[in-house]
Amino acid sequence: MGEMQQTITGYDLWHLELPVVAVRSHGVGQMDGSCEIIVLRLMAEGGDEGWGEAAPWSVFTGSPEASYAALDRYIRPFVTGRKVCERERIMAEAQYAVAHCSEAKAALETALLDLEGQISGRPVHALLGGRKCENIPLSVSLANPDWDADIDLLARLREEGVGIVKLKTGFSEHEFDLMRLESLRSDWTDFSVRVDYNQALKPDEAIRQVREIELFLPDFIEQPVERHAFGAMARLRSEINVPLLADESVFGPEDMENATSFGICDGVSVKIMKAGGLRRARKVARMASANGLAAYGGDMFESGLAHLAGAHMIAATPEISLGCEFYQARYYLAEDILEMPFPCSRGVVEIPDKPGLGIRPDMGKLEFFSRDR
Ligand code: MG
Repeated sequence: MGEMQQTITGYDLWHLELPVVAVRSHGVGQMDGSCEIIVLRLMAEGGDEGWGEAAPWSVFTGSPEASYAALDRYIRPFVTGRKVCERERIMAEAQYAVAHCSEAKAALETALLDLEGQISGRPVHALLGGRKCENIPLSVSLANPDWDADIDLLARLREEGVGIVKLKTGFSEHEFDLMRLESLRSDWTDFSVRVDYNQALKPDEAIRQVREIELFLPDFIEQPVERHAFGAMARLRSEINVPLLADESVFGPEDMENATSFGICDGVSVKIMKAGGLRRARKVARMASANGLAAYGGDMFESGLAHLAGAHMIAATPEISLGCEFYQARYYLAEDILEMPFPCSRGVVEIPDKPGLGIRPDMGKLEFFSRDR
């Protein structure tokens, strides 16, 4: 058959509930027990499959129910029956078919790219212009309200060669943040340290607290205040000497445009779940770079399936130079859903060179973790 002329004939969804191994506290809320994701499988004539994941978090991007409904009710009708070669047009239609629901659109584009990769024998990063790096440095987040538990995690990370940690701050007392930073700087000096508030601070208290955090010289401080507080972000940026990163303030290219105009940050956390797909995420990174800003490979509470999409996207996007945080599959989920372990070792994420995403989900795990089971 000619270039990607296969018709998309199958469209299946799973709503999964994945147990996690610990509590994680963030400025915007707490993760405990399990996280929920939506998995999409596309099938084409000839039997090839493409897989994608929506990883929403209700307090951050949206709910799993909204992702499911977007994919099931509003996106499905204009995907089935279309040809694989229509990927870009299908993504353009998805933008208008349902507002927001960026995680659902990320799942759709991931599955379309995986499908195209399976048919053509090319990895997803090649479909996005080719791999520009060997691997991606991995950062693991420290967010346990029980610091002793995070110390155990730090020992494991050191043992396994991870060199970057991101401390989640602002969910408890400021003194707790200072104590943990003191501990990191005195006992764990081999780690690069980053700080993420997840919008926890009020604009009037932010500058005093952030100034004291700054003394520990983290690589960057991420999103101290509420996402729409552009004025407070811009003031903080002008008053501190470590780079200020925007996360919740910047979802897609439209937000990046505003963030640049208002001068709210020195860098941005780029996530396919916020941007609504791999190509829009790349666009955010390129816009940042064109304005002299750095870019970081962020993620949500994801399984290895979404990590793979992010890894292929970053591999083809040299503007994302601050590493990634694709740690959940290995360090946070009780069990991942992929057939093989998500590829990371000695502190880096490796980029698969097999067709499509390179690894597919395990059908038994999809059944086992399904909420409808
Ligand atoms: Mg963040």
